[in-house]
Amino acid sequence: VFSYISEKKQQTTVQTLLKLSRLPKKEPKTFENFDFSMLKSRDLDRIRALPSLGAVYSHRNLAFIGPPGTGKTHLAQAFGYACCQHGMRAYFIKASELRDRFTAARRAGKTDSCLKSLVRPSCLIIDEIGYLNLDKESANLFFQLISLRYETKSTIITTNKNLSKWTEIFCDPVIANAILDRLLHHSHVINIVGPSYRTKDVLENLEE
Ligand code: ADP
Ligand code: MG
Repeated sequence: VFSYISEKKQQTTVQTLLKLSRLPKKEPKTFENFDFSMLKSRDLDRIRALPSLGAVYSHRNLAFIGPPGTGKTHLAQAFGYACCQHGMRAYFIKASELRDRFTAARRAGKTDSCLKSLVRPSCLIIDEIGYLNLDKESANLFFQLISLRYETKSTIITTNKNLSKWTEIFCDPVIANAILDRLLHHSHVINIVGPSYRTKDVLENLEE
């Protein structure tokens, strides 16, 4: 009876964590439904080791870099999903949503509580940073967020933009460098290459 109750309790905890995470509820992206054999990357060993969640336990950051459709978001979400299943808080946010949240928090004078809520999760996933364009004040908030999480929490970013082009995202090269410095120290940068998984069926059919 006790083991039944504790299992039920654990299931409820996982469901609550998944709900709070903002990860997709319908057809979630998991490591189980990811085809590792499709991957083209020189960091294959690191990718295969992701399900052990070593990055979150050792407060390491992860940066998935590569062209569209190569599975960056899928892997990041699968990582977050696995964190929830292991009883840890994960939170998924698109970089553009983060920018909007910063803007709203600034207008409402609530930047502290905004940052506090984003510092809490053990694993914070910021998706599609490459398309972002932040003004100086929001870039500053982004820097504070990365600083507050530095060496205590794990932050995951996905981007199609090479890290050398990050000054375009954060408007100010000094802030961009300060962010990169903290983000990349104790991090694993995972480069993925190859064609888009989204269009692969279409292209294969065209070739036939
Ligand atoms: P990216 O974020 O790199 O642009 P996504 O992770 O969104 O790409 O992948 C695009 C789509 O292809 C998603 O539906 C994802 O689930 C799927 N996908 C990509 N790579 C794989 C893979 N290796 N195995 C299974 N599905 C994949
Ligand atoms: Mg993506």
